[in-house]
Amino acid sequence: MEQKLIDIQENIKFIRNRINEAAVKSGRSESDVRFMAVTKTVDPVYINHAIECGIDLIGENKVQEFLSKKDELRLEKVEKHLIGHLQSNKVRKIITEVDLIQSVDSVSLAKEIERQAEKNNMTADILLEINVGDEESKTGMDKSQFYEIFSEIAEMKHIAIKGLMTIPPICENNAELRKFFDEMYNLFIDIKTKKLDNVSMDILSMGMSGDYEEAILCGSNLVRVGSAIFGPRIYK
Ligand SMILES: *Cc1c(COP(=O)(O)O)cnc(C)c1O
Repeated sequence: MEQKLIDIQENIKFIRNRINEAAVKSGRSESDVRFMAVTKTVDPVYINHAIECGIDLIGENKVQEFLSKKDELRLEKVEKHLIGHLQSNKVRKIITEVDLIQSVDSVSLAKEIERQAEKNNMTADILLEINVGDEESKTGMDKSQFYEIFSEIAEMKHIAIKGLMTIPPICENNAELRKFFDEMYNLFIDIKTKKLDNVSMDILSMGMSGDYEEAILCGSNLVRVGSAIFGPRIYK
């Protein structure tokens, strides 16, 4: 077998073990934390191999890239999420193609999702993306706007809010990183205990290749891992 295929298999096994250990360490069981393979820039051959190695959840960043690759992917038993910034004018193309959109960060985007979901006679599952570090360069809604945006989107009949997603700032150390993850967890629990209609806070999506263990220890139940599975990304 090609070396890269062997590496992918071993990486998945290694990461799954570390996820399991962190889940147990945080007082949960192995099945409580979902392991997403982030497949942006990755060739379908390698994505299919990851699926053969047990991956059952993939995340893509770009609508066009996902649509151009999907026919080559063996997705029968795989859940697909959109995790990258989504422009309103692309909602129409993606809404029936993915199982969940993790990157909803504005009322205007949610309105377009609501409109297209109604047209397709469906309910769209989404996560709300929060810019937990208040970084200018980052996508995600400001923390200060969260409750306002949240309550407006929670009213939309064809949208089901399933949880929260974040990409924390690059941190100097784990203590600093934990501060952001803890903040997200507290927000997650706060909404969860409110028990609102159209809202089920099931998913807290945080943790990537460099910090997924720390994220799980802070309560994440879905980690999004790209380069630690597939190696460094090559942007064409
Ligand atoms: C690329 C990406 C990831 C994965 O990043 P790695 O560091 O390669 O694991 C996770 N989440 C989002 C939103 C991404 O864009």
